[in-house]
Formats: sequence, structure tokens, C-alpha cells
Amino acid sequence: MKVYIQRTLKRTLKICPQSDGSVTVIAYQFLSQKAIADHIAENLPWILEHLKKVAKHDGGLVKKSQPDATSSEMPREYLELSNQVIKDIFAGKSILLCGQLYTCNASTNSQTHLQDDCLYIADKQFATRELRLKAIKTFLKRMSNSVLSQEVSKWGSYFALCPTKIQFKDLHGRWCSCSDAELRAIVLDYRLIQLPQHLQEYVIAHAFAHFAKSGHTVDYFEHLACYIRDYKERQKSISSYDFLLDV
Ligand SMILES: [Zn+2]
Repeated sequence: MKVYIQRTLKRTLKICPQSDGSVTVIAYQFLSQKAIADHIAENLPWILEHLKKVAKHDGGLVKKSQPDATSSEMPREYLELSNQVIKDIFAGKSILLCGQLYTCNASTNSQTHLQDDCLYIADKQFATRELRLKAIKTFLKRMSNSVLSQEVSKWGSYFALCPTKIQFKDLHGRWCSCSDAELRAIVLDYRLIQLPQHLQEYVIAHAFAHFAKSGHTVDYFEHLACYIRDYKERQKSISSYDFLLDV
């Protein structure tokens, strides 16, 4: 049974059996792998029963190319981003966070904050597209500093390497800065927090792998593959989110 973990900023832990026989677990960003594994073990009979039901209902066919946008069981990460969604993101009316879509709304509270499926922006900052995008930029930088910094530390331990600096900034069209090996700097675009976690991981590991090898040589990708075996698939998936770098 293949288990895919989708991280979210919501304090939730939800198991979604899929028609292809896999299971997607939607889990709070900071919940440990052990807590997730325990939850799966506890609910195994329920999971197996539901996998059978889902497979029967779908005639065992995998329908990955036709996600049901109205299904609450379908992890949002797998929803194709429609033109309308992309338009809303450019208009500052929606944002992505860890691959999940949030609607932006005006609020009387002066602090930009998340609540349920919404990002609330202070009335005055919600008035125009420019102001909304400015408020969103500040919010994304704050989220990157708190959430992604921890992810970078985790990967630092994994690579057994400590960066000389960690920075989140506007990289003008790139997800990370590919530094020379001796610089040992992790410089990421602050918009990275919007990507699904497995793609955030790819970008962070990509930056760490440059500590050992400069440039995108065969050696470099062999080194990266030691940490992210399916890096080619992730590299491909990330391109559908590149538009975020233009917002
Ligand atoms: Zn690179």
C-alpha cells in the first residue's frame, strides 16, 4: 500500500483512500512521521475496507487525469489549477500554501491571518490588487521564515551540513539560488511556501546538493539522487507552479 503524505498548515490528520489503491494522508505540517504511522496502523482495518469500496466504485480504474474538483476527499494538491484559480491568484484573491488553495477575504482585524480555508487581509489592504499582493507578499515572507526555516534545518541535518546563511527573498524567476559549493548559502524564493511539501523538499535538497557540487553536472544530479530519488518527477511537477514566480 503506497502512502503519500500531504502536509498542511491546518491542525488536521485525515486519511483519504484513493481509487488506485494508494492512501493520501493530509497531516499538519509539524506532526511527526511516527504519529502519522501510528494513526495509519490504528485505522488499518478501516483503510483496507475503504480501499475496496473505492476500487469497486471506480471499477478499479485510475482516474488521475480527471480529478473531481467538488470532492472534499480529493487532496487539493491534486486539483488541477484552473485558469480561474490562476487569475484569482494574480488578482490577489486566492493564494496557495503548501499546495492548498485559500480564498482571500477582507477583515476588520489589522493582522493578515489564516482561518479555515481563508486568508484574511485588513480592509484597507484588501481595497486594490496592488495592496492585496503587497499584504500577501509580507504574509508569505513571514510564513517562509517560520515554516520553511524549520524544513531547511531538517534537511541540513539530513545532509549533515550547516549553511552559512538562510535567506528568503525575491529571486526574480527562480525557486532557489544555485550557489557555488564553497559559499554554502541557502537562498530561496519566499514564494516557495506555496508549493506542495514534496516540491518544497526538492528545491531545498537541490540547494543543499550544491554544497557538494557546483553547477548542474551529471555528478551533481547523481549526488542529488542520493537524497531525492524521484527528483526528475519532482522537477517536472514544479514547472506547473512556475507562474507563481510572476505574481
Ligand atoms: Zn541548481
